[in-house]
Amino acid sequence: MLLKSFAADPNKTLGRAHKETISPFRNDFQRDRDRIIHSSAFRRLEYKTQVFVNHEGDMFRTRLTHSLEVSQIARGLARTLCCHEDLAEAIALAHDLGHTPFGHAGQDVLNNCMKDFGGFEHNLQSLRVVDQLEQRYADFDGLNLTFEAREGILKHCAIKNAKKLGVVGERFIKKHQPSLEAQLVNFADEIAYNHHDIDDGYRSGLLSFKLLMDIAIFCEVAEEVRQQYPLIDERRWLHETIRRMMHGLVRDLCGFTQKALLKHNPKSIDEVRQLPQVVGLSTSMTQKQGELKRFLRQSLYMHPHVVEMTQNAEKIIKDLFGLFMNDPSLMNDPSLMNGAHASEEQSRLTRSVADYIAGMTDRFAIQIHKSLF
Ligand code: MG
Repeated sequence: MLLKSFAADPNKTLGRAHKETISPFRNDFQRDRDRIIHSSAFRRLEYKTQVFVNHEGDMFRTRLTHSLEVSQIARGLARTLCCHEDLAEAIALAHDLGHTPFGHAGQDVLNNCMKDFGGFEHNLQSLRVVDQLEQRYADFDGLNLTFEAREGILKHCAIKNAKKLGVVGERFIKKHQPSLEAQLVNFADEIAYNHHDIDDGYRSGLLSFKLLMDIAIFCEVAEEVRQQYPLIDERRWLHETIRRMMHGLVRDLCGFTQKALLKHNPKSIDEVRQLPQVVGLSTSMTQKQGELKRFLRQSLYMHPHVVEMTQNAEKIIKDLFGLFMNDPSLMNDPSLMNGAHASEEQSRLTRSVADYIAGMTDRFAIQIHKSLF
């Protein structure tokens, strides 16, 4: 791993909340990554929706396969740009740990249920998972990750919540940036989902090749593939097109970011934090990506089939929230039960209910809803 001075350095980490002995075998960011992989929240990603509900088919992305794709892209970017690959990998694998069942629909309805009690944000929930909710270590709650991993996991945060988080929330108040590794993961996340959603959308039959040809960047690359391989079958044509689109995007991002690094010349991670965002895309690529995102929103995320699934998810989460608020003893999780009794202070109870629901997989939520209603 070739590192430049602007990369995160495990030997200069801002540390963990609980002091630990140094490992003779692994650097601190490797340890973070390993803890994330061994967490129960990570395993549950396998049964959480990305766009298509888990039981709709075995071939679609889940949050787990999405997180693996994000980590693959982020590691490649980090290595090319001489940033710390282990940190980028750790952040990528943890970035969706706080997601509710049923994708964004789940988060929106849980946020609505929690509106009088501080709301629900999935990024903040990912941090809660690694800071508090995992219970695997004798000495502390959570995974006791390094500051740098926690900083990267907290991608967005409302100012009122940031103020309660101590040092890790300060950047939202000061309008500073996170490490380059964290910035790379944010882009890797977008690169992954924009492209795998085209693939899953096509596989599901909701997006046709003809419809996809309306997107300028898709059409441009697909034509290039067809010229080279005039007899290619449609499915392979799609995959080759997606592959080349991702390559083009990665090339653009690395070129733009390398230029920005030369211009700003940050000498340390701290200088990176005080600069404007360094990782980015060229103006023309940003426009093309904007068009792709608008297309996916209109044609896939707002497709009647996906919306119908969303409405079912909303009902399940709303029903479960109301039920557990009335009778917390129905929550079958001993770790949450400590803090959750009907007599407890209302806001603490609601937070325990939100933690419980957010931790559910799609199928567990469906199953428990069926058994209780
Ligand atoms: Mg994601």
